[in-house]
Amino acid sequence: MMQKIIRNEAYIDTILNSIQTAVITIDAETHRIVDVNPAAVEMIQTPIESIIGSECHKFICPAEKGKCPVTDLGHTIDRLSERVCLKSDGTQIPILKTVVPVVMDGHKYLIENFIDISEQKEAENKMRLAKEAAEAANKAKSEFLANMSHEIRTPMNAIIGMTYLALGTELNDEQREYLEDVRISADSLLSLLNDILDFSKIEAMKIEINPTEFSLCDTLKNIISNLTVKAHEKGLELSCRISPDVPNHIIGDSLRLRQVLVNFIDNGIKFTEHGKVNIDVEIESTSSDEIILHFAVSDDGIGISPDKHNRIFLAFEQADSSTTRKYGGTGLGLAIASNLIRMMGGRVWLESTPGSGSTFHFTSIFKLPYDNPQAAKPAVSINNAAPIPNRSLRILLAEDNIINQRLAKGLLEKRGHSVTIAGNGQEALILLGSGEFDLVLMDVQMPVMDGFEATAHIRSSEKDTGKHMPIVAMTANAMKGDKERCLEAGMDAYTSKPIEAAELIKTIEDMTTTDTNCAAA
Ligand code: ADP
Repeated sequence: MMQKIIRNEAYIDTILNSIQTAVITIDAETHRIVDVNPAAVEMIQTPIESIIGSECHKFICPAEKGKCPVTDLGHTIDRLSERVCLKSDGTQIPILKTVVPVVMDGHKYLIENFIDISEQKEAENKMRLAKEAAEAANKAKSEFLANMSHEIRTPMNAIIGMTYLALGTELNDEQREYLEDVRISADSLLSLLNDILDFSKIEAMKIEINPTEFSLCDTLKNIISNLTVKAHEKGLELSCRISPDVPNHIIGDSLRLRQVLVNFIDNGIKFTEHGKVNIDVEIESTSSDEIILHFAVSDDGIGISPDKHNRIFLAFEQADSSTTRKYGGTGLGLAIASNLIRMMGGRVWLESTPGSGSTFHFTSIFKLPYDNPQAAKPAVSINNAAPIPNRSLRILLAEDNIINQRLAKGLLEKRGHSVTIAGNGQEALILLGSGEFDLVLMDVQMPVMDGFEATAHIRSSEKDTGKHMPIVAMTANAMKGDKERCLEAGMDAYTSKPIEAAELIKTIEDMTTTDTNCAAA
């Protein structure tokens, strides 16, 4: 009763005339404005006589003329949609609008109410711009760090390589000791640079996962073989057990998987004084074309208190500040590993008891090759790897930089290979024509004739002979796309500069040796 008395015309007029919200009423058939309140007049900034009778799209949602969803539907309520109001001076303001259809005296109308949201929009815009600027600045920082650490790696690798070569010459004890110190410091500086490079590349979103088919067993065997010396130096046992149902050939980024595993195993060795470090691999789940593997790296080390379990995965975080003093490190390794695991579709977690050891678990998704009969195999355990078969190769090195020439020549000759140097692509072609070689190590950027052109000449001359000279590219820009360009140009493999002894030797020897099989336990 009370409600009926109050809701008279004066009441409704007072509301319409005093509220801050614009209200206009539109004839649903003609789309003409039949009523408008003062707030709407104020917002449109046009005399009321010019508004009444006008087509609604003259002022509201001008771009929607002829395709207005609400007038078409006629009877639906359109709540709080962001639209535009056109003022008489031609400026457009953003509005938040609600449209309600109503039937009065048998005729259909639309009542639209809206508010000006220019300020909110401006604030949102400012926030978006500030966010974009902050993201751009962060990206620029990461790119700078990535470029800088890449640049520093070049001379660092020369220092390491040359020290390695000098250590192979006749030295007295004092000289040997000094050079050993140079080697250890240079190694730790390089690993720090590599961490910064990786971390900043992840931040700048420059790291991508490159899946290829690989042998899990060979990868693990190689990792164990590389880290066994380190473990043995501390009197620790290093072992690995792969569950029998885990397929050997899988498709994934073996280099990134390796990096993650090495990081966990390295930490296991670093933080353990007595006992062992073990890697376990088993299937978490499998489908017709995909498999999720579960890796667990456990150690008998100092352990990590529960309150630190999440923190240590953040960049620059260590379990406690005394860690750096005692064990060194930057706190970047786990941040990089957990990012890579995420990129490989997996997750990472930790079980640890302070004083008795830790187990770092992670999963990763791999694709299965099409022709992959997964026969049941006995469990495989690897305690040490067989030595890499080694045969002496005649290598033609096409490289213009004298330090790199000396470094690559020294490293390869130390491995028992013979090396002939060409200062550019043209020299390489002449030498190839006059001598016998097993492989060409080809720098990409060279004066006179670059590696791409030289490769094209070699491949076209092979069309007549039917032979195939293995060509390994060496390029300084380890950026995405470079590898593909080298392979497209007819090269067979790729190694990145700065020259890293292990990578260079592995790439070359992989090209000329066949896979070793994992031995069953
Ligand atoms: P770093 O080892 O360079 O400090 P990480 O990110 O690899 O960086 O590790 C961060 C911290 O996590 C380490 O400083 C250490 O406190 C703790 N931590 C990592 N792995 C282990 C482990 N296996 N046992 C004990 N503590 C560990």
